[in-house]
Amino acid sequence: MATAAPATPIKNSKQALNPLDLFDVRGMLGEDERMVQDSVARFVDDRVLPIIQECFEQHRFPHDLIPEIASLGLLGSSIKGYDCAGLSSLAYGVICQELERGDSGIRSFVSVQSSLCMYPIYAFGSEEQKQKYLPRMARGELIGCFGLTEPHGGSDPANMKTHAKRQGKDWVINGAKMWITNGTIAGVCVCWAATDEGIRGFLIDKGTKGFDAREIENKFSLRASVTGALFFDNVVVPEENVLPGVVGLKGPLSCLTQARYGITWGVIGAAQACLAQMLDYTSTRILFGKPLAQTQAIQLRLADMSRRITTAQLLSLQLGQLKEQGRMTPSHVSLAKWNNCRMALDIARDARDMLGGAGISAEYVPVRHMLNLESVITYEGTETIHQLTIGRELTGFSAF
Ligand SMILES: Cc1cc2nc3c(=O)[nH]c(=O)nc-3n(C[C@H](O)[C@H](O)[C@H](O)COP(=O)(O)OP(=O)(O)OC[C@H]3O[C@@H](n4cnc5c(N)ncnc54)[C@H](O)[C@@H]3O)c2cc1C
Repeated sequence: MATAAPATPIKNSKQALNPLDLFDVRGMLGEDERMVQDSVARFVDDRVLPIIQECFEQHRFPHDLIPEIASLGLLGSSIKGYDCAGLSSLAYGVICQELERGDSGIRSFVSVQSSLCMYPIYAFGSEEQKQKYLPRMARGELIGCFGLTEPHGGSDPANMKTHAKRQGKDWVINGAKMWITNGTIAGVCVCWAATDEGIRGFLIDKGTKGFDAREIENKFSLRASVTGALFFDNVVVPEENVLPGVVGLKGPLSCLTQARYGITWGVIGAAQACLAQMLDYTSTRILFGKPLAQTQAIQLRLADMSRRITTAQLLSLQLGQLKEQGRMTPSHVSLAKWNNCRMALDIARDARDMLGGAGISAEYVPVRHMLNLESVITYEGTETIHQLTIGRELTGFSAF
């Protein structure tokens, strides 16, 4: 019996929706925000996608992209003044989304520089610290890293072992930090340490005696990103390198709130990259005489991806609006980080399966995104910690 020719998909161009943005979230952005999105999208298409597979395979961060990332205004993009772009929260969101459509490692680089290093200097630093660090960081001439997590357990930062003691006008820091993005390429570390007064933030310049950073090798995730371990052995830091504007855990936690907001958008980009590839692949892969896309099971899975991406987009959009209005709370961010990371990881895993054997090849994007998202769902608060945060919000009882 002759095999039936594959049917032509029914498409009405007038009504066709953008399959990666079914509810037109882009239409809710301002013109400036759409322009930012377009320029970052072009950068990702032209400069990131052609090299990122190789970078991932070689466990290499593409340093040479830093000047372009900086010239696009993506470093400290929400900060006003100090040579920063002063963009809106939604613009920061779409920057993260487009970068992570390329790779979570590139988005992580920008998140750490912007939200975890430049933000605390801007929010809690002295005017001298802002002038000294922010313009150079915006230009990409100085890279930062954020040292909070310690080897004995990142989920419980209040149990911090790294400590700083006063010695005359200076501070002496001892301890270690683990899993630090940009650790070995950073010129300055925003290091959080316990003091007699509570947790304080210290700006430790590369080369300071007793401060050492070593790269963590053999990662299976975020291979196009630098991750390091930091060691502080009687590191002497002058008083002018202490962030004067904050004492206590709220310092680092407020930085994480900024970064997690960006992550909620970023992972949408990773999921969109997977869905885009699956729409293409399943429409050309012919099995049992018809395209995979013409089978009910595959359509259910594609539709489910689309449903989950759309709800994540709407969540991040509303989160961005709350942020602009000054109404965003850490619980809002926890729910969105949990939902959106889980969404993206599930989609990447499902897309990998729908590719069959090809799904394990780095030539297709899902396996790379899947492996990266294993880090993204863990860092900046694991999924469990965010679930427990919502549990605490609902019940008033802390279970952690
Ligand atoms: C690639 C990468 C980059 C990173 N970059 C940075 C960075 O730049 N700066 C930085 O400071 N940190 C960074 N981190 C660290 C990251 O934030 C931590 O890995 C994360 O917070 C979890 O800490 P942990 O690895 O010590 O796991 P643990 O805290 O030991 O947790 C282990 C497990 O226990 C679970 N758990 C913990 N507490 C409870 C509880 N009360 N009840 C039930 N389950 C619980 C967790 O959910 C997890 O599943 C990075 C991590 C990775 C992987």
